[in-house]
Amino acid sequence: MDDQPLLSVQDLVKHFRMPRRNLLRPPDVVRAVDGVSFDIWRGKTLGLVGESGCGKTTTGRTILQLMRATSGSVQFGGTDLCQLSDKELRSFRNGMQIIFQDPYASLDPRMTIGKAIAEPLMIHEISKTRDEARERVQELMERVGLNPYFINRYPHEFSGGQRQRIGIARALAVDPDFVVLDEPVSSLDVSIQAQILNLLQDLQDEMELTYLFIAHDLRVVRHISDRIAVMYLGLIVEQAPGLEIYDEPLHPYTQALLSAVPWTDPRLARKHQRIILEGEVSSAVNPPSGCRFHPRCPIAEERCQHESPALREIQPGHWVACHLA
Ligand code: SF4
Repeated sequence: MDDQPLLSVQDLVKHFRMPRRNLLRPPDVVRAVDGVSFDIWRGKTLGLVGESGCGKTTTGRTILQLMRATSGSVQFGGTDLCQLSDKELRSFRNGMQIIFQDPYASLDPRMTIGKAIAEPLMIHEISKTRDEARERVQELMERVGLNPYFINRYPHEFSGGQRQRIGIARALAVDPDFVVLDEPVSSLDVSIQAQILNLLQDLQDEMELTYLFIAHDLRVVRHISDRIAVMYLGLIVEQAPGLEIYDEPLHPYTQALLSAVPWTDPRLARKHQRIILEGEVSSAVNPPSGCRFHPRCPIAEERCQHESPALREIQPGHWVACHLA
Protein backbone atom coordinates (compact mmCIF):
# COMPACT_ATOMS: atom_id res chain seq x y z
CA MET A 1 0.00 0.00 0.00
CA ASP A 2 1.16 3.60 -0.65
CA ASP A 3 2.51 5.60 2.29
CA GLN A 4 -0.09 8.32 1.86
CA PRO A 5 -3.79 8.20 0.98
CA LEU A 6 -4.64 9.37 -2.53
CA LEU A 7 -7.37 11.58 -1.07
CA SER A 8 -7.30 13.14 2.37
CA VAL A 9 -10.24 15.31 3.45
CA GLN A 10 -9.71 17.27 6.65
CA ASP A 11 -12.33 19.27 8.52
CA LEU A 12 -14.28 20.01 5.36
CA VAL A 13 -16.99 22.63 5.82
CA LYS A 14 -19.51 23.83 3.24
CA HIS A 15 -22.10 26.36 4.34
CA PHE A 16 -24.63 28.03 2.06
CA ARG A 17 -25.92 31.49 2.80
CA MET A 18 -29.65 31.70 2.04
CA PRO A 19 -31.27 34.81 0.52
CA ARG A 20 -32.12 37.28 3.30
CA ARG A 21 -35.85 37.18 4.11
CA ASN A 22 -35.92 39.84 6.77
CA LEU A 23 -33.71 42.93 6.58
CA LEU A 24 -33.50 43.09 10.38
CA ARG A 25 -32.09 39.58 10.70
CA PRO A 26 -28.91 38.00 9.35
CA PRO A 27 -29.47 35.56 6.48
CA ASP A 28 -29.95 31.89 7.33
CA VAL A 29 -26.95 29.64 6.78
CA VAL A 30 -27.38 26.01 5.74
CA ARG A 31 -24.60 23.98 7.38
CA ALA A 32 -24.62 21.25 4.72
CA VAL A 33 -21.17 19.86 5.58
CA ASP A 34 -19.87 20.80 8.99
CA GLY A 35 -16.40 19.38 9.59
CA VAL A 36 -15.95 16.11 7.72
CA SER A 37 -12.63 14.19 7.65
CA PHE A 38 -11.61 10.94 5.98
CA ASP A 39 -8.86 9.36 3.88
CA ILE A 40 -9.17 7.12 0.84
CA TRP A 41 -6.24 5.01 -0.31
CA ARG A 42 -5.45 4.35 -3.94
CA GLY A 43 -7.54 1.55 -5.40
CA LYS A 44 -9.96 1.55 -2.44
CA THR A 45 -13.57 2.58 -1.90
CA LEU A 46 -15.13 4.62 0.86
CA GLY A 47 -18.91 4.24 1.05
CA LEU A 48 -20.53 7.48 2.28
CA VAL A 49 -24.03 6.75 3.50
CA GLY A 50 -26.91 8.72 5.00
CA GLU A 51 -30.46 9.91 4.39
CA SER A 52 -31.13 12.49 1.73
CA GLY A 53 -30.17 16.00 2.87
CA CYS A 54 -27.40 14.78 5.22
CA GLY A 55 -24.68 16.48 3.14
CA LYS A 56 -23.13 13.51 1.34
CA THR A 57 -23.65 14.83 -2.20
CA THR A 58 -22.36 18.27 -1.17
CA THR A 59 -19.31 16.55 0.31
CA GLY A 60 -18.63 14.79 -3.02
CA ARG A 61 -19.03 17.95 -5.07
CA THR A 62 -16.93 20.04 -2.71
CA ILE A 63 -14.13 17.47 -2.89
CA LEU A 64 -14.22 17.75 -6.69
CA GLN A 65 -14.21 21.56 -6.34
CA LEU A 66 -17.46 21.77 -8.30
CA MET A 67 -18.35 24.01 -5.37
CA ARG A 68 -15.73 25.66 -3.22
CA ALA A 69 -15.33 24.72 0.45
CA THR A 70 -16.11 27.22 3.18
CA SER A 71 -13.06 25.86 5.04
CA GLY A 72 -10.98 22.72 5.43
CA SER A 73 -8.67 20.94 3.05
CA VAL A 74 -8.87 18.34 0.29
CA GLN A 75 -5.43 16.84 -0.36
CA PHE A 76 -5.36 14.99 -3.67
CA GLY A 77 -2.05 13.27 -4.38
CA GLY A 78 -0.47 15.64 -1.85
CA THR A 79 -1.89 18.92 -3.25
CA ASP A 80 -4.55 20.88 -1.37
CA LEU A 81 -7.17 21.52 -4.04
CA CYS A 82 -8.93 24.10 -1.84
CA GLN A 83 -5.90 26.38 -2.17
CA LEU A 84 -5.78 26.30 -5.98
CA SER A 85 -7.18 28.92 -8.34
CA ASP A 86 -9.72 27.83 -10.99
CA LYS A 87 -6.92 27.95 -13.54
CA GLU A 88 -4.59 25.83 -11.44
CA LEU A 89 -7.39 23.33 -10.86
CA ARG A 90 -7.71 22.62 -14.57
CA SER A 91 -4.75 20.28 -14.64
CA PHE A 92 -6.35 18.21 -11.83
CA ARG A 93 -9.78 17.95 -13.43
CA ASN A 94 -8.99 14.88 -15.54
CA GLY A 95 -7.79 13.00 -12.50
CA MET A 96 -11.18 13.30 -10.77
CA GLN A 97 -14.53 12.44 -12.29
CA ILE A 98 -18.15 12.02 -11.17
CA ILE A 99 -20.81 9.52 -12.17
CA PHE A 100 -24.36 10.68 -11.48
CA GLN A 101 -27.51 8.88 -10.41
CA ASP A 102 -29.33 9.81 -13.59
CA PRO A 103 -26.97 9.55 -16.55
CA TYR A 104 -29.80 10.56 -18.88
CA ALA A 105 -29.87 14.04 -17.38
CA SER A 106 -26.18 14.51 -18.11
CA LEU A 107 -26.37 13.22 -21.71
CA ASP A 108 -27.38 15.55 -24.53
CA PRO A 109 -30.40 13.82 -26.15
CA ARG A 110 -29.36 15.15 -29.59
CA MET A 111 -25.84 13.77 -29.40
CA THR A 112 -24.99 10.17 -30.34
CA ILE A 113 -23.39 8.25 -27.53
CA GLY A 114 -20.21 7.98 -29.60
CA LYS A 115 -19.96 11.77 -29.65
CA ALA A 116 -20.89 12.04 -25.98
CA ILE A 117 -18.09 9.69 -24.93
CA ALA A 118 -15.64 11.30 -27.37
CA GLU A 119 -16.38 14.85 -26.13
CA PRO A 120 -14.01 14.79 -23.11
CA LEU A 121 -11.33 13.14 -25.28
CA MET A 122 -11.44 16.00 -27.76
CA ILE A 123 -11.85 18.79 -25.16
CA HIS A 124 -8.83 17.62 -23.20
CA GLU A 125 -6.90 16.79 -26.37
CA ILE A 126 -6.39 13.20 -25.26
CA SER A 127 -7.21 12.05 -28.80
CA LYS A 128 -5.58 14.12 -31.53
CA THR A 129 -7.83 13.07 -34.41
CA ARG A 130 -11.46 12.00 -34.83
CA ASP A 131 -10.36 8.52 -35.91
CA GLU A 132 -8.25 8.13 -32.81
CA ALA A 133 -11.17 9.30 -30.65
CA ARG A 134 -13.54 6.86 -32.38
CA GLU A 135 -11.17 3.98 -31.75
CA ARG A 136 -10.87 4.93 -28.07
CA VAL A 137 -14.67 5.28 -27.75
CA GLN A 138 -15.18 1.78 -29.16
CA GLU A 139 -12.59 0.43 -26.76
CA LEU A 140 -14.33 2.16 -23.83
CA MET A 141 -17.75 0.88 -24.92
CA GLU A 142 -16.44 -2.66 -24.95
CA ARG A 143 -14.81 -2.18 -21.58
CA VAL A 144 -18.13 -1.15 -19.96
CA GLY A 145 -20.10 -3.93 -21.67
CA LEU A 146 -21.71 -1.98 -24.53
CA ASN A 147 -21.67 -3.22 -28.10
CA PRO A 148 -19.48 -0.76 -30.10
CA TYR A 149 -21.88 -1.34 -32.99
CA PHE A 150 -24.29 1.08 -31.18
CA ILE A 151 -21.84 3.99 -31.39
CA ASN A 152 -24.18 6.07 -33.56
CA ARG A 153 -27.30 5.58 -31.45
CA TYR A 154 -28.92 8.21 -29.23
CA PRO A 155 -29.36 8.07 -25.44
CA HIS A 156 -33.13 7.43 -25.61
CA GLU A 157 -32.47 4.16 -27.47
CA PHE A 158 -30.83 2.64 -24.38
CA SER A 159 -32.18 1.18 -21.13
CA GLY A 160 -31.40 2.74 -17.72
CA GLY A 161 -28.59 0.25 -17.06
CA GLN A 162 -27.06 0.81 -20.51
CA ARG A 163 -27.23 4.58 -20.00
CA GLN A 164 -25.35 4.22 -16.75
CA ARG A 165 -22.70 2.24 -18.67
CA ILE A 166 -22.47 5.19 -21.10
CA GLY A 167 -22.03 7.57 -18.13
CA ILE A 168 -19.26 5.33 -16.78
CA ALA A 169 -17.50 5.17 -20.18
CA ARG A 170 -17.66 8.97 -20.43
CA ALA A 171 -16.18 9.44 -16.96
CA LEU A 172 -13.41 6.92 -17.62
CA ALA A 173 -12.51 8.39 -21.02
CA VAL A 174 -10.01 10.79 -19.44
CA ASP A 175 -8.38 8.00 -17.42
CA PRO A 176 -9.08 9.38 -13.92
CA ASP A 177 -7.54 8.18 -10.65
CA PHE A 178 -10.49 9.11 -8.46
CA VAL A 179 -14.22 8.86 -9.14
CA VAL A 180 -17.16 10.11 -7.08
CA LEU A 181 -20.07 7.72 -7.63
CA ASP A 182 -23.13 9.72 -6.62
CA GLU A 183 -25.93 7.18 -6.09
CA PRO A 184 -24.96 5.45 -9.36
CA VAL A 185 -27.46 2.59 -9.05
CA SER A 186 -30.31 4.17 -7.08
CA SER A 187 -32.60 4.57 -10.08
CA LEU A 188 -32.03 1.01 -11.39
CA ASP A 189 -33.83 -2.31 -10.77
CA VAL A 190 -32.13 -4.55 -8.22
CA SER A 191 -30.91 -7.08 -10.85
CA ILE A 192 -29.39 -4.28 -12.96
CA GLN A 193 -27.89 -2.70 -9.83
CA ALA A 194 -25.85 -5.87 -9.26
CA GLN A 195 -24.53 -5.80 -12.83
CA ILE A 196 -23.42 -2.16 -12.57
CA LEU A 197 -21.84 -2.76 -9.15
CA ASN A 198 -19.91 -5.73 -10.57
CA LEU A 199 -18.78 -3.61 -13.50
CA LEU A 200 -17.59 -0.81 -11.20
CA GLN A 201 -15.68 -3.33 -9.14
CA ASP A 202 -14.04 -4.93 -12.21
CA LEU A 203 -13.05 -1.50 -13.55
CA GLN A 204 -11.60 -0.59 -10.18
CA ASP A 205 -9.45 -3.72 -10.19
CA GLU A 206 -8.32 -3.24 -13.80
CA MET A 207 -7.62 0.49 -13.59
CA GLU A 208 -6.71 0.85 -9.89
CA LEU A 209 -9.51 3.38 -9.49
CA THR A 210 -10.26 5.03 -6.16
CA TYR A 211 -13.96 5.55 -5.36
CA LEU A 212 -16.08 7.68 -3.08
CA PHE A 213 -19.38 5.82 -3.32
CA ILE A 214 -22.33 7.92 -2.14
CA ALA A 215 -25.54 6.06 -1.28
CA HIS A 216 -28.56 6.31 0.99
CA ASP A 217 -28.82 2.54 1.33
CA LEU A 218 -26.22 0.56 3.29
CA ARG A 219 -27.07 -2.60 1.33
CA VAL A 220 -25.82 -1.13 -1.95
CA VAL A 221 -22.31 -0.27 -0.72
CA ARG A 222 -21.78 -3.47 1.27
CA HIS A 223 -19.71 -5.48 -1.19
CA ILE A 224 -17.83 -2.65 -2.86
CA SER A 225 -16.66 -0.60 0.16
CA ASP A 226 -13.40 -1.08 2.03
CA ARG A 227 -14.59 1.44 4.60
CA ILE A 228 -17.97 2.98 5.34
CA ALA A 229 -18.70 6.43 6.75
CA VAL A 230 -22.20 7.25 7.97
CA MET A 231 -23.29 10.89 7.82
CA TYR A 232 -26.01 12.64 9.77
CA LEU A 233 -26.82 16.36 9.44
CA GLY A 234 -23.45 17.40 8.01
CA LEU A 235 -21.28 15.24 10.28
CA ILE A 236 -19.76 11.78 10.15
CA VAL A 237 -21.19 9.84 13.10
CA GLU A 238 -19.50 6.49 12.47
CA GLN A 239 -16.67 5.24 10.28
CA ALA A 240 -15.38 1.67 10.17
CA PRO A 241 -14.04 -1.09 7.95
CA GLY A 242 -16.78 -2.21 5.52
CA LEU A 243 -17.80 -5.55 6.97
CA GLU A 244 -17.39 -4.51 10.61
CA ILE A 245 -20.09 -1.88 10.38
CA TYR A 246 -22.64 -4.51 9.30
CA ASP A 247 -21.70 -6.88 12.09
CA GLU A 248 -21.11 -4.40 14.85
CA PRO A 249 -22.71 -1.00 14.25
CA LEU A 250 -22.06 1.14 17.32
CA HIS A 251 -23.97 4.35 16.59
CA PRO A 252 -27.75 4.27 17.13
CA TYR A 253 -28.27 6.00 13.76
CA THR A 254 -26.22 3.37 11.89
CA GLN A 255 -28.20 0.68 13.73
CA ALA A 256 -31.45 2.29 12.58
CA LEU A 257 -30.24 2.58 8.96
CA LEU A 258 -29.21 -1.09 8.96
CA SER A 259 -32.55 -2.10 10.42
CA ALA A 260 -34.38 -0.35 7.56
CA VAL A 261 -32.71 -2.54 4.92
CA PRO A 262 -34.83 -5.46 3.63
CA TRP A 263 -32.05 -8.05 4.08
CA THR A 264 -32.30 -11.24 2.05
CA ASP A 265 -29.53 -12.78 4.16
CA PRO A 266 -31.47 -14.27 7.17
CA ARG A 267 -28.49 -13.75 9.49
CA LEU A 268 -28.45 -10.00 8.81
CA ALA A 269 -32.27 -9.81 8.93
CA ARG A 270 -32.22 -11.40 12.41
CA LYS A 271 -29.36 -9.22 13.56
CA HIS A 272 -30.87 -5.91 12.50
CA GLN A 273 -34.37 -5.91 13.96
CA ARG A 274 -36.50 -2.95 12.86
CA ILE A 275 -35.85 0.29 14.78
CA ILE A 276 -38.37 3.01 14.03
CA LEU A 277 -36.89 6.48 14.31
CA GLU A 278 -39.25 9.14 15.59
CA GLY A 279 -39.53 12.48 13.78
CA GLU A 280 -37.81 13.93 10.76
CA VAL A 281 -34.17 14.87 10.16
CA SER A 282 -33.70 18.29 11.80
CA SER A 283 -32.95 21.36 9.73
CA ALA A 284 -29.35 22.03 8.68
CA VAL A 285 -30.08 25.74 9.24
CA ASN A 286 -30.59 25.28 12.96
CA PRO A 287 -29.10 21.92 13.87
CA PRO A 288 -29.99 20.66 17.36
CA SER A 289 -27.57 21.49 20.18
CA GLY A 290 -25.41 18.75 21.69
CA CYS A 291 -25.64 15.55 19.66
CA ARG A 292 -27.44 16.44 16.44
CA PHE A 293 -29.17 13.07 16.51
CA HIS A 294 -30.63 13.49 20.02
CA PRO A 295 -34.22 14.46 19.02
CA ARG A 296 -34.57 11.08 17.24
CA CYS A 297 -32.24 8.90 19.26
CA PRO A 298 -34.02 6.05 21.10
CA ILE A 299 -31.37 5.94 23.86
CA ALA A 300 -30.63 9.66 24.29
CA GLU A 301 -29.72 10.88 27.77
CA GLU A 302 -29.98 14.33 29.27
CA ARG A 303 -26.36 15.30 28.44
CA CYS A 304 -26.92 14.44 24.75
CA GLN A 305 -28.98 17.65 24.50
CA HIS A 306 -26.06 19.94 25.28
CA GLU A 307 -22.79 17.97 24.91
CA SER A 308 -21.66 17.29 21.38
CA PRO A 309 -20.00 13.85 21.18
CA ALA A 310 -16.54 13.75 19.61
CA LEU A 311 -15.70 11.16 16.96
CA ARG A 312 -13.60 8.65 18.97
CA GLU A 313 -11.69 5.54 17.91
CA ILE A 314 -13.48 2.84 19.91
CA GLN A 315 -11.76 -0.12 18.25
CA PRO A 316 -8.81 -0.02 15.83
CA GLY A 317 -10.09 1.80 12.74
CA HIS A 318 -13.66 2.07 14.10
CA TRP A 319 -14.69 5.64 14.96
CA VAL A 320 -17.97 6.63 16.59
CA ALA A 321 -19.50 9.92 17.74
CA CYS A 322 -21.77 8.85 20.61
CA HIS A 323 -21.48 9.38 24.38
CA LEU A 324 -22.73 5.87 25.02
CA ALA A 325 -20.60 3.90 22.56
FE1 SF4 B 1 -27.93 9.06 21.02
FE2 SF4 B 1 -26.69 10.51 22.87
FE3 SF4 B 1 -25.31 8.79 21.38
FE4 SF4 B 1 -26.28 11.02 20.33
S1 SF4 B 1 -24.73 10.88 21.91
S2 SF4 B 1 -26.35 9.02 19.45
S3 SF4 B 1 -28.21 11.21 21.39
S4 SF4 B 1 -26.92 8.31 22.85
